[in-house]
Amino acid sequence: MFKIENVHASVETENENKSILNGLNLEIKPGEIHAIMGPNGSGKSTLAKIITGFPGYEVEKGCITLDSQDILEMEPDERANAGIFLAFQYPVEIPGVNNEDFLRMAYNAKQKKLGKEELDPLDFNELIQEKCKLLDIDASFLDRSLNEGFSGGEKKRNEILQMLILEPSVIILDETDSGLDIDALKIVSNAVNYYLKNNTLKTAPSLLVITHYQRLLNYIQPDHVHILVDGKIARSGDKSLALALEESGYEKV
Ligand code: ADP
Ligand code: MG
Repeated sequence: MFKIENVHASVETENENKSILNGLNLEIKPGEIHAIMGPNGSGKSTLAKIITGFPGYEVEKGCITLDSQDILEMEPDERANAGIFLAFQYPVEIPGVNNEDFLRMAYNAKQKKLGKEELDPLDFNELIQEKCKLLDIDASFLDRSLNEGFSGGEKKRNEILQMLILEPSVIILDETDSGLDIDALKIVSNAVNYYLKNNTLKTAPSLLVITHYQRLLNYIQPDHVHILVDGKIARSGDKSLALALEESGYEKV
């Protein structure tokens, strides 16, 4: 179970400590899909960042746990090894780092941590080619530098590949739909839905989908929808809340 309890968080800016999250609570059971929607600037990306341990953000109060392990006590790489995965709104480009090598290093770091077998480049290539085929992903970008010059769609596909390789237990998609055409959106959604049903985890993964528009939720159907306003969940409901919101806008929340 992934639990966020009464989290207050702020960011250090040049002249102030700006508070962004103001008492946020959220519980995602294994196998559940939760969506967070909300106006620009409501704190959605900040939530994703504090879960993964992004520098510059401070959690002043509250706690975040995954199966009772205190996530906030961990370094970002430890959080990743514990099973937390964030697909960024804007993935970073790392020139000079071969994409497939990067994926293999991330995979092997996790295998090592879990006391499982690490893969050499040949065996890893086999694994990754298989995942690409399965998802109808063109693997030509595997030989390039990590995200360098990748189109928006390629970056997203690459993140999804990372997800399938790392098998996280908590997946956070932060506006993964932004900049995607409808075909790319379908590839990403299909891959996520596929992963939720086909993985080797002991307990089913939890998914948190952050999105500004309800479009993505036609493809990844949430069990619960939450509206974030001013760093706090203002309303929760089922899928119909997302549709109602599309009609009425955020003002009436
Ligand atoms: P959302 O993803 O919902 O659009 P964010 O979490 O990105 O919102 O931002 C919430 C608020 O915090 C915004 O007002 C934003 O300007 C501010 N904020 C976020 N990160 C920083 C930062 N690094 N420096 C200054 N202000 C920030
Ligand atoms: Mg955002």
